Amino acid sequence: MPYAEVAVDAPIRGARTFTYAIPSGMEVLPGQMVQAPFGPRVADGVVVKLSATTAIDPVKPIYKADPLGPLLSSHRLELAHWMSDYYLSPLYDALALMLPPGSRGRTFAVVPRPGEEALAAMSDDLREGVGALFPGRRRLVREEALRARAGQRGQREMERLFRRGVLRREWRWRALRPPAAQAQAEAVPAIAERPLVATAHQRRALGEICATLEAHRHGAFLLHGVTGSGKTEVYLQALAMCLEGGRKGMVLVPEISLTPQAVQRFQARFPGQVAVLHSRLSAAEHRHAWWDIYRGRYSVVIGSRSALFAPLWPVGLIVLDEEHEWTYKQQDMEPRYHARAVATRLAQQADAVLVLGSATPDVAVYHRAATGQRLKLLELPERLGNGGAASRPLAQVQIVDMRRELREGHRGIFSRPLQAGLRQTVEAGKQAILFINRRGESGIVQCRDCGHVVRCTSCDVPLTYHADAGRLVCHQCNRRRRPYLSCPRCGSPRFRQLGLGTQRVVSELEALLPGVKVLRWDRDVAAQADAQEGVLERFARGEAQVLVGTQMVAKGLHVPSVTLVGVVLADIGLHLPDFRSSERVFQLLCQVVGRAGRGEEGGGAIVQTYRPDHYAVVLGARQEYGGFYRNEIAFRRRQGLPPFSRLIRLAFAHTSEAQAEREAARIGRALRHQREAWGLGEVEVMGPAPAYPLRVRGRYRWHVILRGPDPRLLLDKVELPNDWVVDVDPISVL
Ligand code: ADP
Ligand code: ZN
Ligand code: ZN
Repeated sequence: MPYAEVAVDAPIRGARTFTYAIPSGMEVLPGQMVQAPFGPRVADGVVVKLSATTAIDPVKPIYKADPLGPLLSSHRLELAHWMSDYYLSPLYDALALMLPPGSRGRTFAVVPRPGEEALAAMSDDLREGVGALFPGRRRLVREEALRARAGQRGQREMERLFRRGVLRREWRWRALRPPAAQAQAEAVPAIAERPLVATAHQRRALGEICATLEAHRHGAFLLHGVTGSGKTEVYLQALAMCLEGGRKGMVLVPEISLTPQAVQRFQARFPGQVAVLHSRLSAAEHRHAWWDIYRGRYSVVIGSRSALFAPLWPVGLIVLDEEHEWTYKQQDMEPRYHARAVATRLAQQADAVLVLGSATPDVAVYHRAATGQRLKLLELPERLGNGGAASRPLAQVQIVDMRRELREGHRGIFSRPLQAGLRQTVEAGKQAILFINRRGESGIVQCRDCGHVVRCTSCDVPLTYHADAGRLVCHQCNRRRRPYLSCPRCGSPRFRQLGLGTQRVVSELEALLPGVKVLRWDRDVAAQADAQEGVLERFARGEAQVLVGTQMVAKGLHVPSVTLVGVVLADIGLHLPDFRSSERVFQLLCQVVGRAGRGEEGGGAIVQTYRPDHYAVVLGARQEYGGFYRNEIAFRRRQGLPPFSRLIRLAFAHTSEAQAEREAARIGRALRHQREAWGLGEVEVMGPAPAYPLRVRGRYRWHVILRGPDPRLLLDKVELPNDWVVDVDPISVL
């Protein structure tokens, strides 16, 4: 067939392709990378379809076809198409996730050495720059290098010279070279680790999963059980069954829990068959792993969300461990996909089984399972002890009412019970963790005496204080009001912003227990290379008695000598202007409290709060998922929030605040206008409003949120400029 539909590497929203002619003598197939002209430039592309005819005239030809032939199967093309259509992202960006590492940006421009005439046409500055880049007999330089050398003024001059034809550019295409097949790298144990005998609950779960696996049918399961209830053992045995049946398996875990210990459990059970994909791999390691998977060397892939796109086929089982984790949603670049949604699609496509595992399932997911919407609930209700026989008790948890502490004259950030607990722990030679929820600490105003937080009367989200405007602002509807001087509920003058940094906690701790050894772990520390692992290892080795950290300490830290966990202020995140803030606080509390009492002698947790009556705090402290779920789903139903509606968030950022606000207002008007014009009354347009926090990396952020049974209906009616970010099913509306 003479024509090809090509997804081009360009910022074009949605699953759009362009038609090209296939020159005679060129072999091109769907799934193959090509190079093709695009506007004034040349771009990378992937062929998604061939066709015999076209209505387009004239049709430009494909320049080059990748000699490796097609790298993406029709299944992959279909999955990318779905992602791009559903998340409104460039089709090429979705396809690029599935291509071998290093296939991005293959097209580049080079500039041949300018002749005498061209040099004569240049300014002295540019000629000098060009001269330095062409030493000796050098014939070509990368256009990028020339631009970097030329500076801003020189670049404008270069542009003019290109247009006049005085300077020429030639397009090149970097070759993709698959690495040679690797020799078996590490020695693997001769005998695989023996599977444990499944408990009755595990047997029941495995029975359901394996029946579906054997039937080669699609099925989706939610495996609900606290940490230590034996979920991983279920994954391992289901995987064994899947491999026996001749198919392969994917295990997704949040990046932070992709620790060597976790990976070893899989490697010990399936020696030599497990490929690990994580962000710490070097480019070369990643490339080797990809091609080895492609060549069929592995039957199990374990990795973070992008492992979904590893070239593993045929897939019989996909596991998403800790399915509630927010890191499963790609938020900072296109496509803004959720791994759970893509895994569901992939499992349907492959007639594979999907297992979602969690101690604290996403409320919307649990609702699907509870109401039987193509998701079956499997429960592991017991924590297993060593050997799986005795079930261990959960940690003792004490909730401390900080309002009462204040009323009784204790103003410090540590309540009396927490002070006593810390002192005892340190004196007994044990270890403690102090946890601070940094997310959303600023802007929210709370009464220190009664705990009252001012909320928007129409959105029921907390108002946040904007110092520059001197106003309390709703981040969903932009309602504004003058700040209060005293608490509108109890009249207390101690009505101010929440806020507590790790640094402050560390210094108060040192004042409380002179000489105590403290380690700090937060985003600033973790940002330093390798510091993240370093701090945890040092704490686990006993180098400090207290670890002070943000939400990151809530995950993946097993230290048996930790006997006390203190949550310095449980409710900070509770007041974020976001519909998932309670869910988030509940999940964090469950995890943090679960850190306590891991050792032989059990342990305790102390949770400090101004809201000792809030269901997320009370039930999180008790790790009571069922009760939390019932409260939260009732709240979502009342408010018409997911899963009872769908959301699309449209966001715009600009260095000028006025410009950001104006553009947001313009789109808001366009949306409301189309809503009336098309009678789409069931789609609600919320905002425009400032996002939270308003300013990020020097840019002011505004957003509009669409809510309804199918908000896409309205979005499709509006021409949204390319510099707007579209987030379908956002995990938060901050
Ligand atoms: P989870 O993934 O829910 O945290 P794990 O599968 O890691 O739970 O199990 C917790 C502990 O119990 C592990 O040490 C594991 O080896 C052990 N375990 C799990 N299943 C069994 C079983 N059927 N018999 C004995 N021990 C088990
Ligand atoms: Zn008050
Ligand atoms: Zn509002």
